[in-house]
Amino acid sequence: MLKKFLPNEFVNNVYAITPEHLKNLGIKGIITDLDNTLVEWDRPLATPELTNWFRGMKDAGIKITVVSNNNETRVGKFCEPLGIPFIHRARKPLAVSYKKAYQLLNLKADEVCMIGDQLLTDVFGGNRQGIHTILVVPVASTDGIWTRFNRMVERRILSSFKKQGLLQWEDKK
Ligand SMILES: [Mg+2]
Repeated sequence: MLKKFLPNEFVNNVYAITPEHLKNLGIKGIITDLDNTLVEWDRPLATPELTNWFRGMKDAGIKITVVSNNNETRVGKFCEPLGIPFIHRARKPLAVSYKKAYQLLNLKADEVCMIGDQLLTDVFGGNRQGIHTILVVPVASTDGIWTRFNRMVERRILSSFKKQGLLQWEDKK
């Protein structure tokens, strides 16, 4: 049962994910969470480092869309300057936005990956759709109020994975 929460990959941050790696997996598109995956949940705009990462993906022909449970103001203000299409109030882990996202990219479920910092939304929803899931360590150790409860549950699942040797996880200080 808990296996549905197990990501295919686990990395320290998005910068560990390269176009070459994705291409080797047959992945042509990225569906990514925003808050605490790309930047801190309370940082309004992309950092220069992140902007470069997006450019590198685009140059390599990897398509990107942001799928966030946050509202249109937050997600729009972040994505519009970057020219990245987005889905806000996505209600992850429900299936609807994942499907919308890969259709938006003109790709199939097995041609995209889902990158996110939360097991209960990003990873769980992606796994259920047969999407390759990549968990990142949250950019910030704080969260918006709605995420805090999920984190408590998440910690228990992560420690169970850790005990079974399924995932290496360093708790943030
Ligand atoms: Mg997040």
